[in-house]
Amino acid sequence: MIYADNAATTRMSDAAIKRMTELMTDTYGNPSSLYSVGQKAKEVLEEARDDVADVINANPREIYFTSGGSEADNFAIRSAAVIGAKNNKKHIISTAFEHHAVLHTLRALEKEGFEVTLLDVHEDGLVRLNELEDAIREDTCLVTIMYANNEIGTIQPIREIGKLCREKNILFHTDAVQAIGHLPIDVEKDNIDMLSASGHKFKGPKGAGFLYAKKGIRLTNLIEGGAQERGKRAGTENVPAISAMALALKDAVSNMEDNTKVIIKRRDRLIEGLSKIEHSALNGDATKRLPGNVNLCFEGIEGESLLLLLDDKGIMASSGSACTSGSLDPSHVLLAIGRVHDVAHGSLRLSINEDTSDEDVEYIIKSVEEVVTYLRGFSPIWRDLVSGKKEFIL
Ligand SMILES: *Cc1c(COP(=O)(O)O)cnc(C)c1O
Repeated sequence: MIYADNAATTRMSDAAIKRMTELMTDTYGNPSSLYSVGQKAKEVLEEARDDVADVINANPREIYFTSGGSEADNFAIRSAAVIGAKNNKKHIISTAFEHHAVLHTLRALEKEGFEVTLLDVHEDGLVRLNELEDAIREDTCLVTIMYANNEIGTIQPIREIGKLCREKNILFHTDAVQAIGHLPIDVEKDNIDMLSASGHKFKGPKGAGFLYAKKGIRLTNLIEGGAQERGKRAGTENVPAISAMALALKDAVSNMEDNTKVIIKRRDRLIEGLSKIEHSALNGDATKRLPGNVNLCFEGIEGESLLLLLDDKGIMASSGSACTSGSLDPSHVLLAIGRVHDVAHGSLRLSINEDTSDEDVEYIIKSVEEVVTYLRGFSPIWRDLVSGKKEFIL
C-alpha cells in the first residue's frame, strides 16, 4: 500500500505512539491535581509547551493547547473579532482558498455584522502584496492568510504579509497547519501575531493542536469552564496527546532539512511524470509549494473515479474536497485559482512524505497514466473533446 494522503492526516510516528501509550499508562494524573501523579502530568505538559514554543521561537506563555487546527483557527479569529469590535473595527481580510475552519468562521462573523474581503489568489495560488495593501482599510482588525494551502500546497509570502500588517498595526493570523513541521517557521522573523497548528499533520496524534498568540493579545474563550491554559481554554488537558504532538514536532523539525531535499526530488519527479499525460495541468505554482504536495487536473475524467481505481491499485490519494463532504461541488480552492467546474472535477492530490520511496513514485506515475487512459476510454466528456464538439481547456 502507498499512502499518499499526508495532507489529510499522517500516520503517527513510532516514537509518538510510544510516548503517548507510555504516558497513558503511567502518567494519567490530572495536571491540576496536587498529588505526585498529577504534578508529573503537569511537568510533562509544561515540557511540551516549552518544546512547541522553542520550535517556532515563541515564549511558552504564548502557547495555548487546543483540540486541533480547526479549534485554533476559530479561537484566533473569534478573539481578533472581539478585539476589533471593541475598537469599532469590523473588517477582516482573508483569501478565497482558506481552509473551511477559517472561511466558515468568517461567514459566521459576517452574520454578526463583520465585513470580509477575500483576496484573489490568482492562477498560481499566491496572494499579491499590493492587493493586500489596497484591501486594508481604517476599520480592518484582522488579516488571516494561510501559510501553505492544504490542497495545492502553495506557500504565501508570510514574512512580507506580516511586515505589512505590523506597519498598519493590524493583527495577523496564519493557519500554519500544513506548514509547521514541513517548513521553517519563526514567529518573530515572520511577523506573526497568531498561528494555528495541528498535531496530526506532522505525525502526531489527532485531536491535539495549539494556538500561538503573541503576548498582549487578549484571547476570548471558546470553551468556558476550568482555569486550564491560563484560563483561556477549559477542559482537562490531554497530556499524552499533547506530549506526543510536541515530540513529533521536534522530530519533524530536526529531520526537516534532510527530508525536504529527498521529498522535493520525488515531488518534482511526480510532477514531471504526471504532466506528460496529455491535457493535464499542475495546480498552483511549481516551486513555491510544500515539499510533499502534487496536485494536477486531468481533463475529461472525474476525480472520484480516479481515486477509487487508484485505491484498487493500492494507492491512497485525494481529490479536492468534494468526496470528503459527499457533495458534488468542486473544490473551492481549485475554483479560486480559476479552474472551471469541469476541469476542477478531474483533480488529483498526492501528498507524499519521507516514507514515499522512489519505487513508489514510479508506480504512482504508471498507475495514474493507466487509470486516466482507462477512464477517458468511456468518458462522454472526453469523446466530445476528442471529436471537437467541445474545446479542450488544458
Ligand atoms: C487539517 C487542516 C485544518 C484542520 O485541522 P484539524 O486538526 O483537523 O482540526 C485546518 N487548516 C488546514 C490548512 C488544514 O490542513
